[in-house]
Amino acid sequence: MTNHCCEAMTSRVNVGCDQHDDSFACPDALVDFSAKFQEYGLIIHDGGTSSITIDFCPWCGRRLPESRRDRWFDELERRGIDPWEDEVPAEFQDDRWLGSLYQE
Ligand SMILES: [Zn+2]
Ligand SMILES: [Zn+2]
Repeated sequence: MTNHCCEAMTSRVNVGCDQHDDSFACPDALVDFSAKFQEYGLIIHDGGTSSITIDFCPWCGRRLPESRRDRWFDELERRGIDPWEDEVPAEFQDDRWLGSLYQE
């Protein structure tokens, strides 16, 4: 479970709607947090899954964690996994892969 910068962000990321499983389908959801990339995005409700990546929290103004997108691809490459061709391991589908980085 990731700690977010403030309570407002935490409640926005975990909006917990019982009518929509997918936050992109839910009009109440504003922020999409990608655990595997550590990226925050403002959801664009155009029926797709687009979002605008944000660097600062709209509520508390703090700088958000650095995106790990590049590192994610580097780590997979290091293991000889092609994310487009091969099956991506379970720990790389959320933030668990970051745990192994911090232990090094
Ligand atoms: Zn909803
Ligand atoms: Zn915040």
